[in-house]
Parts: sequence; structure tokens; C-alpha cells
Amino acid sequence: MGIRKKIGILDLQGGVHEHAYHLQTLGIEPVRVKVAEQLDELAGLILPGGESTCLIRLLNIFDITPKLKAAYADGMKIWGTCAGAILIAKHIEGDQPQLGLMDITVARNAFGYQIDSFNTRVTIPKVSTKELELTFIRAPKITGVGKGVDALLLIDDYIAAAESEECLATVFHPELTPSLAFHKYFAAKCGINVTSELTELPERTSWMQFAQIANPSK
Ligand code: GLN
Repeated sequence: MGIRKKIGILDLQGGVHEHAYHLQTLGIEPVRVKVAEQLDELAGLILPGGESTCLIRLLNIFDITPKLKAAYADGMKIWGTCAGAILIAKHIEGDQPQLGLMDITVARNAFGYQIDSFNTRVTIPKVSTKELELTFIRAPKITGVGKGVDALLLIDDYIAAAESEECLATVFHPELTPSLAFHKYFAAKCGINVTSELTELPERTSWMQFAQIANPSK
């Protein structure tokens, strides 16, 4: 195993570029992971949002799954956003687990269809003192957490973000909002020092249009 000091983003499908842009803005050059060997140097790996069935198929087709599990056992932290949270869940309601790494239970597509996607604002004191904008896109709900997992954010009857020593799971998409708070938070979890004082992207990007429509006053 190599020395683990970088952050990677699984680059097979989904919101890779958006995560990369957030990390780059913070001064972290991410590794875009397309082959298993790239996992050797990672202190942390982001599993992006996208489509979890598609992602697990690609992980298996490209034979990345065994090495990903081995890297995780060797201390690599994992942050799953949306589909990524489904990938790492140990329990999926009505279905088999995929990677099965984090003791959370998820219900897929729990808010309805793609058109039922929405935006909201919350405060998560552990992550940021500022109010955060959250974007949910055909998101799952975390419906339960097991031993060693804490709920970071409860909304109504579900958990929207959870954390263990090894994993972070968010059912929403911090990479689709201007805030850099979650990327900073994950970097710290990976033992990577972020010197940037920036708390937000310098400007909203084209992929934040959905959030703007949902929050026209912003
Ligand atoms: N609905 C997708 C799934 O079940 C997740 C959507 C997302 O990542 N935005 O995989």
C-alpha cells in the first residue's frame, strides 16, 4: 500500500466535475479514480451522486470493488453523496446492499420522482456556523443508523446526513451549492489540512441553476 494523502473522486458516472471543482477551489487537487490502483494513494474517496445501480455495475465491471473495500479496511475514508450514500449503506430497504460499508439503512428514491427534487436551507453546527443550502435530487432517505454512526442532520422523519469514524453520508448534494463547508469537513476527516479561508465558491456555476429556480430570491 502507498502512503495515503490525497482525496479521490470515483470517476465512472455522476457528479464528478462538481466535486472536483469544490476541492480545487479549496486548493486540493483531486485524483479522478478510474482504475483500482489509484486507490492506493488515497486518504479519502468521494462516491458522487448519480445512479447507484449503474455505479455498482461499473465498479464491478472495472474490477474496482475488491480494491475499494481493501483500501477502506486500510483506513481510506469515504464520503457518499446521494447515490454514493446508497452504495456504502449496509442496508437498503427492499433490496440487497451494494458495497455495504456503513451501518446505515437507506430507502431509495424516497421523495418520489426526479420532478419531486427540491432545495432547502438548514444549519448543521458541526459542519458550518453558516446556514447551508441543500439540494436533493431524487434522493434516498437514511431511515436508520447502527452502532458507531451518528446522525448529523435530522429533517422531519428521516436522517439527511450521517457520520461514522470512517464514513460520511449525505443524501443531498453539497457539490451543487456554493458552500465549501462539507468538502472542508471531509478533508479534515481525511487528515488533510485546508489552508484556504474561502467558505464559498467565488461565483455560482451553471449547474446551480436548479437551486436558483428553487430559491429565486438567491
Ligand atoms: N436515485 C438515485 C439512486 O437511487 C440517486 C440520485 C442521486 O444521486 N442524485 O441511485
